[in-house]
Amino acid sequence: MSVTTIPINSASFAATDLCVKCGLCLPHCPTYRLSRDENASPRGRLALMQAVAENKLGFTPALRQHLDQCLGCRRCERVCPAKVPYGRLLDDFRAAMPRRTGLAGLARRVLANTAGRAALAAAARGYARSGWRPVLRRFVPLGLEVLAHQAKAPALQAHYPALGTETARVALFVGCTGAWLDADTLRAAIAVLTRLGAAVALPAGQGCCGALQWHAGDRAAAAPLLENNRRAFAGAEVLVSFASGCGAFLQEQTGAAKKVLDLSRFLLDLAWPAAVALQPLPIKVGLHTPCTLADAAAAAELLCRIPELTLLPLPSQPACCGAAGTYLLEHQDSARRLRDEVVEQIAASGVDCVVTSNVGCAGHLRAGLAARGMAVEVLHPVMLIARSMGWNP
Ligand code: SF4
Ligand code: SF4
Repeated sequence: MSVTTIPINSASFAATDLCVKCGLCLPHCPTYRLSRDENASPRGRLALMQAVAENKLGFTPALRQHLDQCLGCRRCERVCPAKVPYGRLLDDFRAAMPRRTGLAGLARRVLANTAGRAALAAAARGYARSGWRPVLRRFVPLGLEVLAHQAKAPALQAHYPALGTETARVALFVGCTGAWLDADTLRAAIAVLTRLGAAVALPAGQGCCGALQWHAGDRAAAAPLLENNRRAFAGAEVLVSFASGCGAFLQEQTGAAKKVLDLSRFLLDLAWPAAVALQPLPIKVGLHTPCTLADAAAAAELLCRIPELTLLPLPSQPACCGAAGTYLLEHQDSARRLRDEVVEQIAASGVDCVVTSNVGCAGHLRAGLAARGMAVEVLHPVMLIARSMGWNP
């Protein structure tokens, strides 16, 4: 077995000592629920990080695997009574781990640059149209199947004026995937925002938020992406994101310097013109809450404004659908098992459609529902608000 040491700043891992080993986080950890292995639990991973930081344990492939298999969902952090900053510790530890290439690393590099994204979108569209898809489905990586359900190429403007009196201005974060993997959501967001009196800007030069790179420990790759967006959004007071993972990361990185709001929260807090009336949608909707969506109540509250819509929150377990950025590329088995559990819950609930506020979860669930032969739409909440306003892409 190869044992190495890694350059690690022991002081930044002092917070591992806060863990009192109570185990309250274990039932909330998706990877522990799957494996029942202490090394795949938050408590176990904290103990491993602490032992390496204190030079009591070398860095081995097995140890790497335990840390790699963490989804980074931070469900453990939310329930921890000792307030262990698990997410920060995991990010710091991964940043100290030796870099690895592989499919997920390649995907992160491709998503970070414009030409790479265009080529990937074209490949996904070609695959989606291919008559061989039913045969190839069993062999292609889970990620390509996810992309095939979504890849589109919309034409975008830099600015969309408010319809009627302008009451707000907003800079919309599109990121690396919003324009082609979540094109309908983007168009619906623009339609709803402008209808409600907000002028929408899509600042030029914006791009990938860098969350995938950062959480994988590749800070050198994340830094220029963060700087790029800092410049692109320098003049914006409020930045609105319709992908919860990107929004959470941008808020964490910008801190008090910039207000980053999830789209549902922004829509909820807008003063709606009296002339805007939502039409009834007599459907049963399953509400999926992504791990990265801190303001989960906003989506529910927003959807409850639609007359005759019945909202049904999906069960809180498994706490993560298994998409988790590029996790679904590296850990396909766990990603499938977690997803299929959610798909079973959707099937049992009898809902007409599912809403989620994250593009990664949406794609992963769509692919899972299609694989099970279920024609259940997976949409961002704004899509239903738009439909209730009479808009369709
Ligand atoms: S809940 Fe917090 S203190 Fe308890 S075992 Fe988990 S990480 Fe440690
Ligand atoms: S971040 Fe998620 S997968 Fe990782 S230890 Fe915490 S709960 Fe488990």
